[in-house]
Amino acid sequence: MAGDVIIGIDLGTTNSVVAIVDGDVPKIVPNRLGQRLTPSMVAISENNKRLLGHLAKRQAITNPENTVYGAKRLIGRKWNTPAVAKALETLTYTCKEGPHNDVRILLRGKDYSVPEISAMVLQEMRTVAEDYLGHPVEKAVVTVPAYFNDGQRQATKDAGKIAGLDVVRIINEPTAAALAYGYGKEMKKKVAVYDLGGGTFDISVLEINSGVFEVLATSGDTFLGGDDFDHRIIDWLVFAFAKENKVDLRKDKMALQRLRDAAEKAKMELSTVQETELNLPFIYTAGKETFHIQKKLTRDKFTELCADLVERTVHITKRTIGEARINVQDLDDVILVGGMTRMPAVQQAVEKFFGKAPSKGVHPDEVVALGASIQGSLLGQAKSEMLLLDVTPHALGIMVAGGFFKPLIEKNTTVPTSKAEVFTTVRDGQTQVRIMVMQGESQLAEENELLGEFVLEGLREARRGEVKIQVNFEISADGILSVAATNLESGRAQAITVTATSGLTEHELQDMVKDAQQYAVAQRTSTEFEGDRVEAERVIREIERLMPTVQAKLQASSFGTDAIKRAEQSIIRAKDALSHEDREALLSSMEGLKKTLEMLRGVASKA
Ligand code: AMP
Repeated sequence: MAGDVIIGIDLGTTNSVVAIVDGDVPKIVPNRLGQRLTPSMVAISENNKRLLGHLAKRQAITNPENTVYGAKRLIGRKWNTPAVAKALETLTYTCKEGPHNDVRILLRGKDYSVPEISAMVLQEMRTVAEDYLGHPVEKAVVTVPAYFNDGQRQATKDAGKIAGLDVVRIINEPTAAALAYGYGKEMKKKVAVYDLGGGTFDISVLEINSGVFEVLATSGDTFLGGDDFDHRIIDWLVFAFAKENKVDLRKDKMALQRLRDAAEKAKMELSTVQETELNLPFIYTAGKETFHIQKKLTRDKFTELCADLVERTVHITKRTIGEARINVQDLDDVILVGGMTRMPAVQQAVEKFFGKAPSKGVHPDEVVALGASIQGSLLGQAKSEMLLLDVTPHALGIMVAGGFFKPLIEKNTTVPTSKAEVFTTVRDGQTQVRIMVMQGESQLAEENELLGEFVLEGLREARRGEVKIQVNFEISADGILSVAATNLESGRAQAITVTATSGLTEHELQDMVKDAQQYAVAQRTSTEFEGDRVEAERVIREIERLMPTVQAKLQASSFGTDAIKRAEQSIIRAKDALSHEDREALLSSMEGLKKTLEMLRGVASKA
């Protein structure tokens, strides 16, 4: 039974969260530090150690080139797209083009695919759940923004595979949030889920009726989130600094990382106070000259800097409500999801648009993971009272003669679904057809995104329009598309899972899985070591702090010189174990350290 547990993971741009259903109750699982959110960050340290979560975040300022954040902005994206170009503008780590026109991340001379980086975060979340449950976990429901396209969904599934997780279902974040909101309650309501996270914005309109959760419409922007708000503060600081000192701080990676941290901190503070100060001493050095930043930022000014971002979310929301074919007044509740919805200007804009205050019943950072764990638990049951009906966020179809886009499945169609349509040849004597599968909303094929293509060969040479080809589209409950084309005369078929062509090959995936498996063990020991390191360093600091004040007193006593020597030796042994990362030696030196500390405290209290 234990192995059948399906955990829920909210793989966020900024933070990730894991939840389980315990009995009937969905619960967030805290990490080793007791925190419910784990930064979605990965770093490679100077001695080539992999660091995750808080450990990665803690050293980001001193190791900006080898610390990855926001990988979700790059996952499943093609290299030569405006979206990636925009993301690369402000990164402190280096990316390059991969062999499949994908994005690769360079860390200490090795390049990683984006799913590999996300796999490390997933693996960390899995370990958090395993430590809590006390047994291995193999299955998970992972959430993605509703507006994620096919390639992004498949790449997220690949990340799960690399992490050794069977991702039994990918579900949309706003849908997960609605599931957690309505779970266990008898209700008949129409709700909107407004989800503004670290990197993406999603809006979904749902109808909840006696355990059936039906998404009526969904939309969003995968490049609109908390990072953009932070950048408005960064731009404001960088611009003022450039004007005053003729220096572009963005060129200095360490400065940029410090600006990012300070901007996010200021943004969060401004959710509760009216004014904050950004204080960045020694932000830049040129020869002997040093530069500092010290600037006040008011909530009003920050609101002004971000007004257009908030407005964009309102615009998308309005459009989506139209697509759901309802009026704003028909909505019973608005659920806020994502850390950014703590910003007062966002809450005010939402309240103004919907004409009602948002629901207070859910926790914006936790509700998505809770929903994922509920879905996991439902999938684990033979029969369930609840039913989730999600939709595809984009229209899916093929390119037809004249360069036009012919949708087979319309946007906001409930999934899983399938659709078949018959096409004919367009030229006399045509013996093959190229099926170009795309998604998007434009009538012109070139304006939409190409998901994959394949050729159906061996058609009979005939007049145009005579040979008929049937094209089948099928979308799974994960929102992933498969396409097949059949020559109706010969019955010969050709099929692809579209997304297999947009990301990693099966062979590459298998290599990454093997790599990650080896790592799973190494990672665990090193994290345990990190816990001991923190403890040892704390005790050493305390000893070093006490020593000068009690030294004279000790030397005067009969056992003093010996005690000082023993204390020094225990510190040397512990520091040696730390530098060699020798856990056993560290644990055995801890005893000596603790005794020393006790003795010093005793002497100090008498002093
Ligand atoms: P999520 O992706 O839901 O974890 O959202 C993370 C985003 O929310 C990040 O951009 C955070 O900086 C932002 N955030 C978290 N707490 C606050 C807060 N109190 N005020 C404003 N933004 C916040």
